[in-house]
Amino acid sequence: MSQYYQKEIETMPQEQIRALQSEKLVRQVRHVYDHVPYYRDLMDKKGVKPSDIHGIEDLSKLPFLSKSDLRETYPYGMLAVPLSDCVRIHSTSGTTGKRVIAYYTQHDIDLWEDCCARAIVAAGGTKEDVVQVCYGYGLFTGGSGLHGGSHKLGSLTLPMSSGNTDRQIQFMMDLRSTILCCTPSYAAYLGESLKERGYKPEDNALRAGIFGAEPWTEEMRRDIETSLGIKAYDIYGLTETSGPGVAFECEEQHGMHINEDHFIAEIIDPDTGEVLPEGEKGELVFTSLDKEAFPLLRYRTRDICVLSRKPCSCGRTHVRMSKPMGRSDDMMIIRGVNVFPSQIEAVLLNEGYAPNYLIEVDRVKNTDTLDVYVELAPEQFSDTVGAISAREKALADAIKTMLGINPKVHLVAPRTIARSEGKAVRVVDKRKLHD
Ligand code: ADP
Ligand code: ZN
Repeated sequence: MSQYYQKEIETMPQEQIRALQSEKLVRQVRHVYDHVPYYRDLMDKKGVKPSDIHGIEDLSKLPFLSKSDLRETYPYGMLAVPLSDCVRIHSTSGTTGKRVIAYYTQHDIDLWEDCCARAIVAAGGTKEDVVQVCYGYGLFTGGSGLHGGSHKLGSLTLPMSSGNTDRQIQFMMDLRSTILCCTPSYAAYLGESLKERGYKPEDNALRAGIFGAEPWTEEMRRDIETSLGIKAYDIYGLTETSGPGVAFECEEQHGMHINEDHFIAEIIDPDTGEVLPEGEKGELVFTSLDKEAFPLLRYRTRDICVLSRKPCSCGRTHVRMSKPMGRSDDMMIIRGVNVFPSQIEAVLLNEGYAPNYLIEVDRVKNTDTLDVYVELAPEQFSDTVGAISAREKALADAIKTMLGINPKVHLVAPRTIARSEGKAVRVVDKRKLHD
């Protein structure tokens, strides 16, 4: 039985959502044009005026924005209200380069927290829950976003922030946390740490987890669900659009509903910028309809996914996005083949390994090399040298079948690959050093 945080909006018929988006878009374009000289110039260069935008059918007339625009206008070039109306700053994690910052009015924060509350309710959360937030607090949006959402709902919020795994586990057990919010890689680590301390999955009171901020596979989801004894939900967002909560999973877990009352989503061909029809894979682009301080229009996320408008059994009508399989700039080209780290992760978990791995790419004598370091579980580590080489070969074969290129697999001792408390670092590309 579905519950909603804002039922009327979350289940609004699609035509009504379109009408709402059109009305908000017209207003937002005017707001941006009047207050953000940088974007006004982009529109002028493209020969488009606010009066040309009558509704979402005109969206594609607007210029795109990308991370490089935000770096260029750092720090306040995108500000659309007086700075004195802003109440907070956040910044990206800097996963792919120089950090960009985002600014919020109180109204922006309120709407963002509502989005996070929708996500918690979609995961079955109520005011009876104890929500343990172990996303980082601070400049990163993860902690504040879920914290605010949990408050809005009236749940008991544990503002743990990231790290200090002993304390996380102590509070999780003593305070009987029921919902866990963190990155999937940290959730996997918590599962592993609980097991090491002799806890069984049924010993904790958790029933759901809301995990996001980095790509994770279905295999990883199953691994976390088993080790923690919970149902694991995906949540998506980026600092540029506020933070987590732009999209979230419902109980159907077949894609994440995008909060279309606040964002218009488009999928484009990353090379040509052409808008692709529903169901085609491409780069996700967002237009913020309600943001006052930092209202990005047609922002290119570099995340690759597919949109679906098929009806969802949960009753929510908002479009769903598939799990992003990685960012366009996460994709590695190895010996001419496109490889996403998530494809390698899926093979490892399918073959019975834990999600502790590191991918190293290099170039030796003009040929790309792919080395995959994978940790053995303690019980696997007692195998003979011969048995371990046989396992390495079997795993290399499975990866070759998936990718079409031969990796070198190294099975390493338990606990030798660094764990992550926030976003995991899975790839070291040494080729860049030689360029
Ligand atoms: P940075 O871009 O520096 O990592 P953010 O902390 O704002 O800064 O991260 C936003 C990015 O994180 C998204 O663009 C996306 O690539 C990734 N991300 C967030 N949530 C998810 C998710 N549920 N699945 C896959 N990737 C995600
Ligand atoms: Zn749904």
